[in-house]
Amino acid sequence: MTSFQHLSIVIPCFNEEEGLDALFERLENTLAQLNEFHYEIICVDDGSRDNTLAILCQHAARNRNIVVLELSRNFGKEAALTAGLDIALGDAIVPLDADLQHPPELIIEMVRQWKNGYDAVLARRTSREMDYPLQRYITQKFYRLHNRISECAIPRDVGDFRLMDRRVVEALKQLPERRRFMKGLFAWIGFKQTIVDFVVEPRKTGKSTFNPRRLWLLALEGITSFSTVPLAIWAYAGFTVAILSLVYGCWIVLKTLVLGVDIPGYASLLTAVLFLGGVQLMGIGVLGEYIGRIYSESKQRSIYIVRQRYGKQDTHD
Ligand code: UDP
Ligand code: MG
Repeated sequence: MTSFQHLSIVIPCFNEEEGLDALFERLENTLAQLNEFHYEIICVDDGSRDNTLAILCQHAARNRNIVVLELSRNFGKEAALTAGLDIALGDAIVPLDADLQHPPELIIEMVRQWKNGYDAVLARRTSREMDYPLQRYITQKFYRLHNRISECAIPRDVGDFRLMDRRVVEALKQLPERRRFMKGLFAWIGFKQTIVDFVVEPRKTGKSTFNPRRLWLLALEGITSFSTVPLAIWAYAGFTVAILSLVYGCWIVLKTLVLGVDIPGYASLLTAVLFLGGVQLMGIGVLGEYIGRIYSESKQRSIYIVRQRYGKQDTHD
């Protein structure tokens, strides 16, 4: 047994060729200051279509603490992160974005908090200036909705950048779901947590892959993974509509008895039919969303597929 502790950094990379040199420089400078640790940097190439893999391999050849995991295609950030966490050997593990939006220097402060006895140290963005006002507004509303209807609240402005103790990662690996909404999973497992603040930097190179469509899908994923409220709503909606229909029905019968038969009513009839049709379709849509999840979970496909691993095999030597 050595007295050294091991630190793993996990970096999902998708088309990041331009920023990697700067990333390694800053990251390695930071890690050099943590000289009481052995470290490994696990870079997961998530099916990049540019030179990312080749550049990562050059760095792995230069520094034997760098490991490169090549996935067989683009599986998405959440899957790439899972792949990295699965092979990380550290006593503490830090996921990091490749685009330098997460300042590596913050790791020093995270490690300090970890040594104070916290199992997870979350990095919180203190400014979201980078986002468009509309995006900021929608994000805020999403978290408020999510936290109101889900079993556990996601802390605001906290992303994947965090330090996790080994036992937190082991707990995460036990969770069987195939479709992984990482922020939700992180919140669900709990543990003793603390927060450190950082200012998010603009993306240095390349461009963000998170367009409105992907954000919408991610939001759906978050809600349907951690809440069944959207399913339950329809029972109440149905009940309310049924009661209203009953009252309306009684009124029509009474009116017919008192005033005699009255033919006109086409407009109200059509409105009611269309409205109910719409409500039913929405209800079926929500059911479909959940059934889709059941379907993809039940296939039990692997979350990612590794094509090849480059770099040394084991840090514990
Ligand atoms: N990423 C990935 N696979 C993807 C999309 C993104 O591994 O399919 C990585 C990307 O290389 C970066 C991180 O996930 O390291 C965050 O991506 P991005 O900067 O595009 O997201 P944003 O910061 O806008 O949320
Ligand atoms: Mg980014």
